[in-house]
Amino acid sequence: MNNNGYRIVVDAGHGGSDPGAVSGGLREKDFTLQAANYMYNRFKELGVPVAITRDDDTTLTRAERLSTMTDTFGNDSKVIVLSNHINAGGRDA
Ligand SMILES: [Zn+2]
Repeated sequence: MNNNGYRIVVDAGHGGSDPGAVSGGLREKDFTLQAANYMYNRFKELGVPVAITRDDDTTLTRAERLSTMTDTFGNDSKVIVLSNHINAGGRDA
């Protein structure tokens, strides 16, 4: 696949000690990890250069998350970061 020099970093939001939104036993960090792993594997299958910030239930500091993004592919206009987040709605508000 001709990706025109684009590289993708897939981020799984939250993780480890940071569950993100929590409701009724559901944790945002589990959904973001599942989505990010799927995206990472699919981009790899397609031959697109791709990295992932975490592929398991790991706690990442903001600096660690950012350095994974920039250390892998640098920091230019052809690096695309896809950060997965799944917010909770206001049913209980
Ligand atoms: Zn989030």
